[in-house]
Amino acid sequence: EFDPLTDIFNRQAFFRILSYEYARASRTGQPCCICMVDLDHFKTINDTYGHLVGDKELQVVAHYLTDKLRPYDSICRYGGEEFLICLPSTKLDKAKKIVNRLRIGLFSLPIDLDKDKKLNITASFGIAKMATNIPLYSNVARADEALYAAKHGGRNQAIAYEEIRPDSKNGRRKIK
Ligand code: GH3
Ligand code: MG
Ligand code: MG
Repeated sequence: EFDPLTDIFNRQAFFRILSYEYARASRTGQPCCICMVDLDHFKTINDTYGHLVGDKELQVVAHYLTDKLRPYDSICRYGGEEFLICLPSTKLDKAKKIVNRLRIGLFSLPIDLDKDKKLNITASFGIAKMATNIPLYSNVARADEALYAAKHGGRNQAIAYEEIRPDSKNGRRKIK
């Protein structure tokens, strides 16, 4: 249910919430966005400062994101240094604003190292509007594709799937 390191939901628990939000979006037509977060150059952090500092950093980031999200949003540790966020009743524009606020906050959130040293971290974000005419896992794949674009674009940025695939707005292809 909970990830032992960060104390937030693990992937399995999160998918129960996500499928509930997916069903709710399908039924009500309310917008819902998801966002995949991946810490930038995390391997370098581990290699430079050690795994304990890496672990601490994961905890700080998880708590920061959890703290800044709205009460009805949800978050999980999706994998190693990846988090998945669900923003219910939220349009894409609003989701981008929320996510960019998180991104800038993270950027200026220092991680205390032992000897007066502080470490700053950045993350890349891939957002997708939940399309209910495709399966849930395809929506997660969209967020992942957007994240890949954010990494490719130089990291420390948020990109929406709809920006890289404008034809797929609302999950439908435009007829030309
Ligand atoms: P990118 O900016 O492209 O995401 O680079 P990256 O180095 O973050 O990506 P990569 O996937 O190469 O490395 C992820 C690293 O995250 C490697 C792995 O050791 C580390 N990691 C995964 N889970 C944990 C964990 O629980 N604790 C620590 N300390 N490190 C972890
Ligand atoms: Mg990763
Ligand atoms: Mg990474």
